[in-house]
Amino acid sequence: MNLGADIVMAFDECPPSTAPREAVKAATERTTRWARRSREAHRRTDQWLFGIVQGGVLPDLREKSARDLVAMDFPGYAVGGLAVGEERTTREEVLDHVEPLLPRGKPRYLMGVGTPEDILEGVARGVDMFDCVLPTRNGRNGQLFTSRGRLSIRNARYRDDPRPPDPDCACYTCRTASRAYLRHLHMAGEITGATLLTIHNLAHYLDTLRRMRQSILLGRFEEFRTEMRRSLTASAGEGEGS
Ligand SMILES: [Zn+2]
Repeated sequence: MNLGADIVMAFDECPPSTAPREAVKAATERTTRWARRSREAHRRTDQWLFGIVQGGVLPDLREKSARDLVAMDFPGYAVGGLAVGEERTTREEVLDHVEPLLPRGKPRYLMGVGTPEDILEGVARGVDMFDCVLPTRNGRNGQLFTSRGRLSIRNARYRDDPRPPDPDCACYTCRTASRAYLRHLHMAGEITGATLLTIHNLAHYLDTLRRMRQSILLGRFEEFRTEMRRSLTASAGEGEGS
């Protein structure tokens, strides 16, 4: 509250995906109590406090959590406790179950997700907001997300490759650096390498989400979804070569 963030999150407890039912139940109930106390303690009118739906991968606990939080009337809702080791299909089932329980006119935030594919599927399920370490952490580790899939700059085949990381990207890195140069920086442990790879990954994520928003405004999100899935499947690993 004191920092003046635009959106702040209520406290929550996020158990691992393998936790037994009793542990998930206790964590979910604690999260609901914390949500109530956070709601009561929150004073600012120029700041949104979101509640966080927990409940692991257990449908009845998710449902109870969502209903209790919605009754507290938050300006937005987060779905937490996913992207903690569960299968993607399980995550999508939980989202399918929770989404209709949240008010239609309020923003939904899927915490800790994810890859471009995961974000696409989240948006398809009505999610508005995400946060994730992948674009920056993977950038530091030499992995690029591109329009043609992922590309590991450590790969020896890029040693003399004069092409930009992603020929379809207009970011600073793609306009000014070759794969060979980026590989050299990365292998030499030069911090500039981490900076340039991070710039590209963030640009790629922002551009992907911009195009997703545009497709929604134009009423053609399903076509966008099909096209993006197709290009990522068709070129799985091809960011690696083409
Ligand atoms: Zn780029």
